[in-house]
Amino acid sequence: MTKSSLLLIYTGGTIGMKHDAEEQTLKPFDFRQILEEVPELLKFALKVDTYTFDPLIDSSDIEAKHWIELAQLLKEKYDQYDGFIILHGTDTMAYTASALSFMLDGLSKPVILTGSQLPIGVARTDGKENLISSVEIASAKDNDGHPLVPEVCIYFDSLLMRGNRCIKVNADIFAAFQSPNFPPLAKAGINIKYYEEYIRKPLDWYQSLSINTKLDTRVGILKIHPGITKEAVKYFLEISHHRAIILETYGAGNAPMKEWFIQLIKEANMSGKILLNVTQCLAGKVDMNIYANGKALSKCGVINGYDSTTESALAKLFYLMGKTEDNEWVKTMLIRNLKGEISK
Ligand code: ASP
Repeated sequence: MTKSSLLLIYTGGTIGMKHDAEEQTLKPFDFRQILEEVPELLKFALKVDTYTFDPLIDSSDIEAKHWIELAQLLKEKYDQYDGFIILHGTDTMAYTASALSFMLDGLSKPVILTGSQLPIGVARTDGKENLISSVEIASAKDNDGHPLVPEVCIYFDSLLMRGNRCIKVNADIFAAFQSPNFPPLAKAGINIKYYEEYIRKPLDWYQSLSINTKLDTRVGILKIHPGITKEAVKYFLEISHHRAIILETYGAGNAPMKEWFIQLIKEANMSGKILLNVTQCLAGKVDMNIYANGKALSKCGVINGYDSTTESALAKLFYLMGKTEDNEWVKTMLIRNLKGEISK
């Protein structure tokens, strides 16, 4: 039997840092020496190759061009490996995971993003557990030899979660990510327990991977808040660069009913902009039929984002708008569940 093989892609971020005694700073280490840092990986009967981004990026600098680079790399290496692990800074990991979920079509292998709150070269690091469990999950197969988790996921602090459902919720503790609107796909304890009923499986295990690398990034996010002014809303909605605007609304999708606000939303819709309603709550969904305030938005042509995270909504818009200039088509696709990103 041939050994399973994984590709470990290091993009940057805290996980790949090591203490440099000479300079007394944290510096990225050479990932080709990953086995020296994490010798535990030798215990798996696996071939692990590494690929390092050049230059490495703090994930706060992530842009669509990096997602394209990742998608192209995955496409290029797809047939050579059984699974992929992307080591990524935590700050924008949920955005990258969401984007990849839409950019990769026909995925039948695991793509697991992970990182850490403490560098891997620090004694109390969470990076080793995150990496080692990700390796185990990315190489896990069922009785037919198919990968157990052929999805874009985030693994963090013992939870495997669907990538486009994740949010970074904590800047301090090890449990940095949550998937508030969808159950975890697996939990690592003494054993790794997989929740098969929640894992998406491909229709055809042998299809080839295709990638969508045309992204249209002309999206703005407007967070509604008490005291928001007419001037601010007007300015933001009228920025001509924006083809779509995500409205981060209250609760079940509510916003002020003030006449000026509704009028501005109406005008933005009439001018052809795509307006998508996503809740600023951590969990739950938009339902614009519950309150008059929500209904008013719906009447103005605002599209329901259901229980999408903002991260996923942004990535989905980039992806859909990259496919066409036809905003009406984009709107019809926004309300469809494409990659398990909304509960519908
Ligand atoms: N700023 C870092 C990054 O996102 C933080 C981390 O890796 O956790 O790249």
